[in-house]
Amino acid sequence: MDFDSGYVMTIDGADAPGGGTVEVVNPATGKSFASAPRASAAELDAAVDAATRAWPAWRDTPVAERRKALVAAADAIAANAESLARLFTREQGRPFPLALSEIKSAAYWLKATAKLDLPVDVIEDTDTRRIEVHHVPLGVVCAIVPWNFPVLLAVWKIAPALLAGNTMVLKPSPFTPLTSLKLGELLRGAFPRGVLNIISGGDELGPMMTAHPGFAKISFTGSTATGKRVMEAASKELKRITLELGGNDAAIILPDVDIDQVAEQIFFGAFYNTAQVCVATKRMYIHADIYDRLRDKLHEIAQRVVVGDGARQGTDYGPIQNAPQYARVMNLLDDARANGLVLLQGRAVPEEGYFIPLTLVDNPPEDSRVVQEEAFGPILPLLRFDDLDEVIARANASDYGLAGAVWSGDVDRAVEIAHRLDTGTVWINQNLQNTPFTPFAGAKQSGFGVENGVAGLLEYTRPKSLFIPKPAA
Ligand code: NAD
Repeated sequence: MDFDSGYVMTIDGADAPGGGTVEVVNPATGKSFASAPRASAAELDAAVDAATRAWPAWRDTPVAERRKALVAAADAIAANAESLARLFTREQGRPFPLALSEIKSAAYWLKATAKLDLPVDVIEDTDTRRIEVHHVPLGVVCAIVPWNFPVLLAVWKIAPALLAGNTMVLKPSPFTPLTSLKLGELLRGAFPRGVLNIISGGDELGPMMTAHPGFAKISFTGSTATGKRVMEAASKELKRITLELGGNDAAIILPDVDIDQVAEQIFFGAFYNTAQVCVATKRMYIHADIYDRLRDKLHEIAQRVVVGDGARQGTDYGPIQNAPQYARVMNLLDDARANGLVLLQGRAVPEEGYFIPLTLVDNPPEDSRVVQEEAFGPILPLLRFDDLDEVIARANASDYGLAGAVWSGDVDRAVEIAHRLDTGTVWINQNLQNTPFTPFAGAKQSGFGVENGVAGLLEYTRPKSLFIPKPAA
């Protein structure tokens, strides 16, 4: 397969060209290098029709066969990992080795999810009757994915939805459609026609999909603002929804950490993917006793690591993924400067492309925009604290509640603090960890519903209770 051109949508197992095109920009240059199809309304209808026609047979396919299909999909991805990763770097910007690791994770996730079982719950089993709850698929799922982890987050939806017996129409972000389109072509061999349709388009396509009456469920990952629009659109037909949304994650760093041992990891947890990670540390609360030393160490790392074109060897951090996001982060930086905040910046970045130096903000006021908003870019506030109760209250004082981290030499103490954080995940002396078997769910305005694990699989089903009489003894 040619990964450098010929980007087409997959509808009903075949090429679909689109009614127009969307330009795709390499964020390391700021220049367009390819175009993706823009799905027409008729093509969206065709994709939903194909998924609707494919559903009964896929639903009735034994689960063992569906597991095999997921494994075949994983193998197809793994066999093309390098080509997919090169394309990923061109459109998304992430350094090639880390792009490759996302592709490999996607293959791993498909295989691991294939091992999950949908339970049959027995509620009652007496001499007179048995009550069983089965978990049956919903129908055609609408999957909408953002640009920061375009392949892995697509697979987080594809794997459980298809394993549970649904069919799907998936849309990548207009900023990163190409790897997903190639994925659509690659996976034609793994699933029957119509089971997985992948379409692309501009800003108009998401709302067209969420308004489409043919979907039983919407699984959405993206910003909280868009999530609210998705929820509103879903209300028209009471479509089921899963919303994985934004975060403003706090890390709390206690004075008993070994700074030299943890600094690199703490830094990576904030800046991985150039800080465009929903669960990145976005507010770093550091105890006053170690604040100056850890701040200086993090600044030293920022001055050492290389920000540049992800296709170049030796690049640690890539560009901001797209022009609007670049403008948003620049606006936050300007606001910080205008308010006299102290910025500690990393080494210089290329002039061409959407690059911003990795930036630490030295103890800004709690109510500054850079603390209160999800930056989703490389501008990290470091905040000094003395009192544990007070810092937990500051960490929890957010509309978001995605994840958080506690760093301490005393794990038991860190666990106690973790229990007091209002988030879906808390990492202790680690960050950014997820597994296919662990429920991932945001609290508050970070989300609605669950991905991963059996709980995530159940999101693609509805319970169906059977009351079965037993013959009189
Ligand atoms: P976004 O909300 O702008 O876009 C996400 C997707 O929704 C894109 O495919 C977009 O085309 C589509 N879309 C846009 N408007 C729509 C509408 N009205 N109806 C339906 N679809 C629409 O988000 P983004 O900028 O692509 O991604 C960044 C955001 O995603 C951040 O807030 C980040 O925290 C969040 N995110 C969350 C998770 C998670 O699992 N919780 C993971 C990754 C990213």
